[in-house]
Amino acid sequence: EIRISHLSKSYAGQQVLDDICLQIGSGEFVAVLGPSGSGKTTLLRTLAGFEPVDGGEIYLGDRLMSSTGRHLPPEQRQLGIVFQNYALWPHMTVAENVGYSLKIAKVADGERRQRIDSALELVGLQGYGQRRPADLSGGQRQRVALARCMVSRPQVVLLDEPLANLDVHLRAAMEAEFEKFHRHTQATLLYITHDQREAMALADRVVVMDQGRVMQFCSPEQLYRQPANAMVARFIGDGM
Ligand code: ATP
Repeated sequence: EIRISHLSKSYAGQQVLDDICLQIGSGEFVAVLGPSGSGKTTLLRTLAGFEPVDGGEIYLGDRLMSSTGRHLPPEQRQLGIVFQNYALWPHMTVAENVGYSLKIAKVADGERRQRIDSALELVGLQGYGQRRPADLSGGQRQRVALARCMVSRPQVVLLDEPLANLDVHLRAAMEAEFEKFHRHTQATLLYITHDQREAMALADRVVVMDQGRVMQFCSPEQLYRQPANAMVARFIGDGM
């Protein structure tokens, strides 16, 4: 249901995305792996609509979201977004942050409270609803951002290293929560991680990027058994 064809993007003459073609099925959990600077974040930012494209097309279902002649703004793409710099609103409580999209969508008070509570419970922050973001740790803020995304039940969720600031225990717990979230919602997840092991454990398929190009896009098993080239073999081997 996400179709990316011949996508390209440059910054100041440097080609950051180079002829990216990917087809991602509805409900798939896809991990995006690659060395620092390989273009992972830029790929997700173009999908989210934060960046225009220089060439190629991005479709969600039969809806054209990006091409050289068209750029649908982020709020019209109906995607869930969990990016590191996608800040919480400092003047709102945790519960207000999490429930904001429901308020906009005019979800009734009772149901809204229920969905906020269950989202906070899902990320292990029950009882934190009345706090302000400034009174939370970095990891807790990240979990609020996750709850905020989950509460609106998006069909497609883009996650840029959602567990990067969490300690090992919480990380393992949150990985399990992602699997649960994915099973329950059947949402399509695109998930950037630096952690090869995490990608292999969670994802149905893994995209390996290098220098703005897709090196391989396949199941974790196939990535182990048949790395497409020396770069992939080295990269996957290094992380395990
Ligand atoms: P990391 O794993 O370190 O987050 P990444 O794979 O997500 O890296 P990107 O953040 O997509 O990589 O960056 C790809 C390349 O594009 C890098 O060389 C980066 O310096 C460059 N780049 C990204 N954003 C911009 C920008 N706004 N202006 C100029 N160059 C940029």
